[in-house]
Amino acid sequence: MENSVPVSGDWVNGVISDFIAASPENTMRNKTEDPAWEDALVGFASGADQIWQQYKEYVGPFHWTPWEVFNQHCPAEPAGAEELTVISWVLPQRAAVRKANRRTKNYPSEEWARIRVYGEEFNVALRRHLVDRLKQVGHAAIAPMLASNWTIVKSERFSYASSWSERHAAHAAGLGTFGLCDGLITAKGKAMRVGSVVAKISIKPTPRPYSNHRAYCLFFADGTCGKCIDRCPVRAITEAGHDKEKCRQHLARAREYVKKTYKFDGYGCGLCQVGVPCEAGIPVKAAREALERGELPPPTPPLA
Ligand code: SF4
Ligand code: SF4
Repeated sequence: MENSVPVSGDWVNGVISDFIAASPENTMRNKTEDPAWEDALVGFASGADQIWQQYKEYVGPFHWTPWEVFNQHCPAEPAGAEELTVISWVLPQRAAVRKANRRTKNYPSEEWARIRVYGEEFNVALRRHLVDRLKQVGHAAIAPMLASNWTIVKSERFSYASSWSERHAAHAAGLGTFGLCDGLITAKGKAMRVGSVVAKISIKPTPRPYSNHRAYCLFFADGTCGKCIDRCPVRAITEAGHDKEKCRQHLARAREYVKKTYKFDGYGCGLCQVGVPCEAGIPVKAAREALERGELPPPTPPLA
């Protein structure tokens, strides 16, 4: 676009934190109008990063690269992969919300169900807001999750998967690694929601401070833990991983429970995200301490 203003990582961080602080949409819609979110972790990945091709091989050919989704939806501003930056953010669950869900044994707490619905509504608004702000300063952008042709597809490897995975984008942007339960373990833990936007801007990528895509999970790091297995009320998590179909069926039951018990159209579960060592931080001591020291491992090997 003509007359565009250069933007930096700090600018993006500011847009996101200002929106969290000031948007009236940042609410749980409970009686006390508590905020859904209080802060965010933000990371950046290059559109030319090899990891996007790896995702095509690992997740499936239907998983978009940033180049594919951007050029489909911003045809007036064609861009090469190297001209694109993926902005990814993590919204960590607030302590009170985590505490409430920690107490539950079968279905989500009211707080958790509110975040799943109203917190995600805010996350959708944040995606739109960031796209709009980028456009205002002259940069085309698209939120892949809001693209009209974003879809869920059947996948041999994962039961089902989607055209764009927010968790995979966050992993690419240096924000975390996957746990036994499939959740993304970040510096603020696994109890969180994620979002992303692909923009025609150039921001230095955030280094991936992990040696592989499961480095922050105790089960994969040293064969211990497995606490998420016991937290799941329907045994959808085993040492073999996460059974998405069992999980999906439980979420359908949770929807009925939430409506009947809390009297609103909500759902969610997230029992495996709380009451576990990775709830609010990285449980693998060596990985956590290396991150705190700002150390980087050798380049991340391909997903396997
Ligand atoms: S609870 Fe333990 S095994 Fe499960 S994802 Fe977290 S660290 Fe890994
Ligand atoms: S795996 Fe699914 S059903 Fe099991 S605790 Fe996690 S979200 Fe709930």
